[in-house]
Amino acid sequence: MLEKMSEFYKKLPPKTCCECGKEMEEQHECYGNICVQCLNVTC
Ligand SMILES: [Zn+2]
Repeated sequence: MLEKMSEFYKKLPPKTCCECGKEMEEQHECYGNICVQCLNVTC
């Protein structure tokens, strides 16, 4: 499963925040598609 997940992410384009549309690094995958800045604002 982990290998499939890795391949899955490699094929994906750079993650973009669904709130601001800004590209973000893969460091908060557990948060989904929202960057830290938007999380702080939303929360
Ligand atoms: Zn954002």
